[in-house]
Amino acid sequence: MRRIGLMGGTFDPIHLGHLILAETARDELSLDGILFMPTGCSYLKDGRQVADREDRYRMTELAIRDHPGFTLSRMEIDRPGNTYTADTLAQLHREEPDVEWFLITGADAFLMMEHWVRPEEIFALCTVACTVRGSDDRGRLEEAGKTYAERFQAKTALFPLMRMDISSTEIRGRLRTGKSVRYLLPGPVIEYIREKGLYQT
Ligand code: ATP
Ligand code: MG
Repeated sequence: MRRIGLMGGTFDPIHLGHLILAETARDELSLDGILFMPTGCSYLKDGRQVADREDRYRMTELAIRDHPGFTLSRMEIDRPGNTYTADTLAQLHREEPDVEWFLITGADAFLMMEHWVRPEEIFALCTVACTVRGSDDRGRLEEAGKTYAERFQAKTALFPLMRMDISSTEIRGRLRTGKSVRYLLPGPVIEYIREKGLYQT
């Protein structure tokens, strides 16, 4: 069985925080690769306009193209309707039955997993791998992992991640106000943003 990490996100735009998260997961969990999955539901996120899904896909492609361990899927951006991780994992299982999947999550998402759509399916189809960053409460995460194991027979894993306070929100703000984003995201992604005039308003 190949061990593959599933790295989902809006990637609006993708930045070094996402890439370091994926690379750290690959390393710490001894994964054979990471599959980047730009999310479909593209028009509303916290009531905000999100960049076109094809732009987000293309930026992700540019960001990972020099890493042989990173690949990219159109599955969610091609699926109509709302994006549900349970659907994605089910489809991945059908298409790639020889893969053991690791869902990469941050602490906030991990602690909220019971409120996701069809958590029992998610837990049945993957190991949920959660980051522990400096300020995160490891005890609470371990507690949640135990609860999921009892309730859903879930497999969970925690892995340490260095703090890297970059967010897409911060980057969009800088682009809007004409500030530099150099070193926060890969050069080719910055070039693409400039060429297409993204995040100007
Ligand atoms: P936004 O600011 O629009 O919310 P974001 O930077 O949080 O965007 P997302 O696409 O929402 O990016 O994030 C995808 C995944 O990457 C999420 O699980 C999120 O927790 C994680 N992530 C984002 N930024 C970082 C970072 N700097 N370090 C570690 N994990 C991150
Ligand atoms: Mg976010």
